[in-house]
This record gives sequence, C-alpha cells and structure tokens, in this order.
Amino acid sequence: MMLPTILLVKYHFPPRLDDLDSIACKFGSDDIEPEDYTMVLPDDTSYRDINSASTIEPLSIDEVHSFLDLYDQTLDGSSAVGMYESKFLLSIRFSTMPNTTCIRGRVTSEYYKTAVKYQTDIILDEHGVVIETQCECGAGRGPEAHCKHVALTLYALTHKDTGIITKETCTQKLQTFHQAKPYSGSPVKAQNLMLRNGGKFQNLKNFDPRPATFVKDPMYPYTFRNVVLNAPVENLPIRQLYSPANIRAIDHDHDYLKQAQKDYFLNDLGVKELNGQQRAALEKETRKQSKSKKWKTERCKRIHSSNFGRICKATNKTDFKTLANSLQVVRNVKAKSLTHGRKYESTAIKRYTKITKNKVTKSGIQVSGKYPFLGCSPDGLVRRDGIIEVKCPSTAFKKKITPKSVPYLKSEVGDHLSLKRNHIYYYQIQGTLLCTDRLWCDFVVWTGKDCKVLPVIRDEAFINGMLTKLTNFYTDFFEPALVKRFYYRETDK
Ligand SMILES: [Zn+2]
Repeated sequence: MMLPTILLVKYHFPPRLDDLDSIACKFGSDDIEPEDYTMVLPDDTSYRDINSASTIEPLSIDEVHSFLDLYDQTLDGSSAVGMYESKFLLSIRFSTMPNTTCIRGRVTSEYYKTAVKYQTDIILDEHGVVIETQCECGAGRGPEAHCKHVALTLYALTHKDTGIITKETCTQKLQTFHQAKPYSGSPVKAQNLMLRNGGKFQNLKNFDPRPATFVKDPMYPYTFRNVVLNAPVENLPIRQLYSPANIRAIDHDHDYLKQAQKDYFLNDLGVKELNGQQRAALEKETRKQSKSKKWKTERCKRIHSSNFGRICKATNKTDFKTLANSLQVVRNVKAKSLTHGRKYESTAIKRYTKITKNKVTKSGIQVSGKYPFLGCSPDGLVRRDGIIEVKCPSTAFKKKITPKSVPYLKSEVGDHLSLKRNHIYYYQIQGTLLCTDRLWCDFVVWTGKDCKVLPVIRDEAFINGMLTKLTNFYTDFFEPALVKRFYYRETDK
C-alpha cells in the first residue's frame, strides 16, 4: 500500500466525509429531520436514461424555484447551477409508476470529486410537482431533502428538451489551478511582519495614523466617534467598539421636538402614512413573496389580512398582548398543511385560468391607502377589480369537494357551495378586498381531484365591523408592541 494516508481515508471510509460535505453545504444544512426516512422506490432495473426522446415532461424552472422556496432556498444562492455547468452530474435516469415519475441522479461530491458520489432520488406527481426527495449526502435525508445535489438534479431536469449535460471527461473539466487557496494563518501586527531579508517594519512601532494636527487633541476620540456613527455606511465593524445609545434618554434630551422620537420612527416604518408611489414600490419589491427578504420584514410591521379573523373573532379570554407580539415575528412554518398548499398553489392557479379564462397577475404586499397599518398579499389579481384566494387543503387531497371534506364550505340551494361567513378565510378575503380596493374575489379550492371556484362579493358592512376592531387592536396593542420591539428593541422572553 503506497497510497498517501489521506487517499486511504477517502477510499475506505467515504461515509465519514458526508459530515464534511454537509458543513460545507450551506444548502440545506439547517433543517434536517432527525429521524431516518427512506423513500419507497421502484426496482433498480426499471430505470432508463433520460434523453430528449424520453416520454417524461421536462420540469419547469418555476417548479424548481417553488420547491426550493419551501425551504427558503434559492437556485442562485446554491452552487447547484455552477456544479451542473461544470458537469458534476454523472447520470440521470427515470422510472415511471402510475401517477408518479421517479428520477434518479448520480452526483459527484463538490469536495471529493473522485472518491465520493451521491445518489439523489426525486418523486414527481402527475402535475410535475416535486413530492419527495432524498440524497445520500449528510444533509440529504428524505423525504424533503433540499441539498445542492437534489437542487442540481432538479435543475438538470429543466434541460430535458435541450439535452441534459452529464458525465465529464478529462478534457471537458475546467482547470482550477489559478484559484487562490484560502489563507489560514492568524492576523499579525504590521510592526511584526517579517520582511524577506529578515528585518521588520521597525518604524511602525509607535505609528500613529492620526493627522499630525490631531495627535494632541483631547477631543479627537469624540470627533472620531461622531464621524463613525454618522457615516452613511451600515455595519462598519468599528461600530462594535461603541455601546448602543440609550434610546429612552433620547426623548428626554430632545423634548423640544414637535413629535416624540417614536412617532418619527413609526412614520419611517410607513405604518402612519404611505403614499401611492411608496405603496406601488413596496408591492413591486415584494412581488416574489416569500422569496424576498423584504416580504418577511414588511409582513411583521402591519396587520395582515390572513390574521384579521383571529383578531376580530378574539374574545375576552384572548391575550391581546401575546397575539400582537406573535404577529411581529418572522416564522418559517414547516407545517405539512402549509407546505402542501404552497406546493400546489401554482397548479391550482393554472387550473383556475383554464376554468374561467381569467388571466391571473402576481402581486406583492398591498398596503391599504386609508389604513396604512393594514396589508395583505393576494394570491393573484384578476381583471381590474377582482382577486383570487387559493386554498389547497391537504386533508382533502384527491377527494371530491364537499362540506364534509372541506369544512369551511357550506351547501347552498341547488348543489352550490359557498364559503362560511364566520370562517377566518372570509375575514381574510374581505380584508384583502379592503386593502386592494377591489370588489370581488374568486375563492378557489383545489384538491387535485376536484376544483371549485366560489365567488365572494365585497361586503361593506362586514368590512366596517372589522375595521373598528382592527383599529382598536392596532392602537391598543399592535403599535405599542411595534415600538417596543423595533424601536426600543426589547423583547419579552
Ligand atoms: Zn445531497
């Protein structure tokens, strides 16, 4: 055995390398399900190579984005595209089962190219929606693996019609010798740096970078501090040297101002007033919804229509303070019912367009012009004065839509269904109509087997009733919580 030790380790214990790969793999290392899970897959022999003549549908790039979005990942943020282009994908095969297609990729490890290969498995349903994924790498436990190898395999599948690039040959591989290696030494004071002839920068020993006129100025540290704190650059590392200001003292020291500091703060937040131009800019900036960071922070600043029902239906027993606080926290909810809804939303919208011939426009956050502390994120805008609200209840998946399978619906005369007026979805829809200044909503319920479009008309009396409760809640609880959290930066533990 003349192989160097490191090579022996690689060849003989590849599983240990998994951990290294998952540390380096920012993609998906956070939210690993602890329990082991293995997907149920067809027999190995049923897999065939994918080429442009294969009988499977190519995956749309939108589907890849919406899958990764479920785990707050983006294709741009991962190395998947670069790895695909550098031919890390060795092979990609498929096997069809009734209603599902199984995809199997073989991907070389980004860090141990010659020694470690991972198998990725992906199951797509008949709508081309990603149902389950797994990968052999450390971050790739199923059924919802979203490591870079899975992302790469999905990305490769979008190239099905133009030809998927697989398997590298030596001459196709890009050389990497020009890439700088990371420096791993510790910082050294400039005065101690060794020069090539063995000398040191002796004259740096008592070096003072201050301009000569300031060296003896006792006020210089304060001048410097002011320049640093007022510099229009965010996150200057040197700011960490200074302790935070006492914000409560500011109101006291600046009592000559027209407004209290917290009111200036609330104005800046845009919850007191927001003009048409600002509202349009905010809508445009948040159009990618949960993909944009701004969408999440903006949602915490206002009461969103999806919560109107919770607030309006609250009773004396509700702890309003806790409720207000809970609405101001960014949450990455991983509940099955929610991910199910997000997975199928675009499929449901396509179905809606097919049924009604209505074109659906995407929308970001819409803030009410008259009540700038209220906002909503409509599932889509339709024509000039309509919206849609889409629900894909996971509990009714593959079932027929009835009041029994979808409990927020009730039967009307002549076999018609309608949305119950006391359900939070009804509050959400009326609230969205209020914030968008629109007149009607098509409430879409989609189960995969069945799809119903139920019209909901704007109800002015209902909206007025909600407005009273929402305004009171905002003044008494939401705004104080907002000031406490984002201005005084105090949180209740
Ligand atoms: Zn992986």
